Amino acid sequence: MKMKCALFGLALFIFCIGSAQAQNKVDLSASQMPSVLTVPLEAQPSDHFDAEAATNAYLAQIPPAARARSDAYFEGGYWLLLWDFLMSAVIYWLLLHFGWSAKMRDLAERLTSFKPLQTFIYWLQLMIITSIFGFPLAAYEGYFREWKYGLATQTFGPWMVDQLKGLLIGVVLGGMLVMFLAGVVRRFPRTWHIWGAVVTTLFIVFAAMIVPVVIVPMFNTVTRLDDPKITAPILSLARANGIPARDVYEMDASKQTTRMSANVSGFGKTMRITLNDNMLRRGSPEEIQEAMGHEMGHYVLNHIPKFILFSFVVIVTGFWLLRSTLDWSLARWGEGWKIRGLTDIAALPLVLLLGSSYFFVLTPILNTETRTQELEADMYGLNASRQPDGGAQGAIHLGEYRKMSPGLMEEWFFYDHPSGRTRIYNAMRWKAENLQLFKTPAAQ
Ligand SMILES: [Zn+2]
Repeated sequence: MKMKCALFGLALFIFCIGSAQAQNKVDLSASQMPSVLTVPLEAQPSDHFDAEAATNAYLAQIPPAARARSDAYFEGGYWLLLWDFLMSAVIYWLLLHFGWSAKMRDLAERLTSFKPLQTFIYWLQLMIITSIFGFPLAAYEGYFREWKYGLATQTFGPWMVDQLKGLLIGVVLGGMLVMFLAGVVRRFPRTWHIWGAVVTTLFIVFAAMIVPVVIVPMFNTVTRLDDPKITAPILSLARANGIPARDVYEMDASKQTTRMSANVSGFGKTMRITLNDNMLRRGSPEEIQEAMGHEMGHYVLNHIPKFILFSFVVIVTGFWLLRSTLDWSLARWGEGWKIRGLTDIAALPLVLLLGSSYFFVLTPILNTETRTQELEADMYGLNASRQPDGGAQGAIHLGEYRKMSPGLMEEWFFYDHPSGRTRIYNAMRWKAENLQLFKTPAAQ
C-alpha cells in the first residue's frame, strides 16, 4: 500500500513536468555571462596597477541580476546539503523502525541460501526503495531547480534515463562493495573494521580508474579533440610541464547542462584531461589555456593519488568510529528492529545512517581538502599558462552557478573550490608581479 502511494506520487510528479519545462526554457540565456569578456581598464597593465582594484573591476562586469541569481542558487545548495542528509536519515530510520529492513532480509533468504547473493538481493531492494522515497527531492534538486536557474538543457525523459543509469551503476558497483564488505564482516568478526577500510579504499581506486573509460561514456560522448588550433597550445603546455599527453578529450556536457568545465579524471593509465563542449564554445583562448594549466596542475601535483591517501585516513577513522557506534546501537535497538547482529545484512540501513552522519559532520573538512588542492592547481595554472586574465574570465564564467563573494567562514565551510573573488584576486596578484609580460613594447 505504501509502495503504491509512492508510485502514485511519482506519476503525479511526471505529469506536472511538461508545463514547467516550457516556462523554464524562456530564461535559459538570462543567467549566462558574455562569452568573451574584456579586460577592464583597472586590470590592464599600468604603473598604478592594483590587484584589489582590478579584482573589483572584474566583479563589476557581472550584471546585478545574474549575481543575485547565482547567489540564490548557490545558497540554496547549503540548505540542500541539510535536506539531503535529513531525507536519507529518515528513510534509513523508517526501514529500521518498522522492521522493513528485516523483511527485506527475510525475502532475500527465502530466494537463495548463498550468502553473497542474499546480500546482493537485499542491496537491490534497498536501492530501489531509497530511490523511490528520495525521488521527489532528487527531482527538485537535479531537474526542476536546474531549469529554474537556467542551468539545465535536458528534458525530463532523458534526465530520467540518466537517473536510471545512475541507479544501475549504484546497484552494480555498490552491490559489489557491499558483498565484499559483508564477506569481510563474516570472516573477520574482530578485525573487520581494519579490513573493511582497506577493501573500501581499494574499491575507490578501482572506481576512480573506471570513471573516464566506463562511467562517463554511459552518459556522454567523449571524443578526441582534433582541431589543432585548440589542441596545439594545450599539448605544447603539456610537453613544457612534462606531461606525457598525446590527446585532449572533449565531452558533450551541453547535453545536460550549460555549465562550463574541464577536469582530470582516472587513475594510472586511464588518467586524462577532458574539456567540456560548453567551455570550447564559450571560453576565450586565454581562458581555455588557463583552465588547462589548472588541470595540468592537478596532474603534476599528483592530486588524485593524494586525494586517495586522504580518503584512506577518512575511511580508517570512519570504520573505527563505525565499529563502536554500531555495537552500541545494535545492543540498544537491534532486537526491536529484528536485527540478529553485526553479520546480519538487515543492519545495513544503520551502517548507512551512521556513515552519512559521519560524512555530513565532516563536510567542512572534506571541502577544505579539495579547496586546498584547487587553490594549488590555480597557482600552478597561472604559472604554467601565464594567463591571469583568462583565469579571471574563467572564475566569472563559473560564477554562473557559484556565489562570487562569500564571507570567510562561508567559504571555509561550504566551498570545494576557492570562491570567484579569491580566484580573481589571486590571478590579479600574480599579474601585478608579472606586469612586464603584458606591457607592449611601446608602453615600456
Ligand atoms: Zn580543479
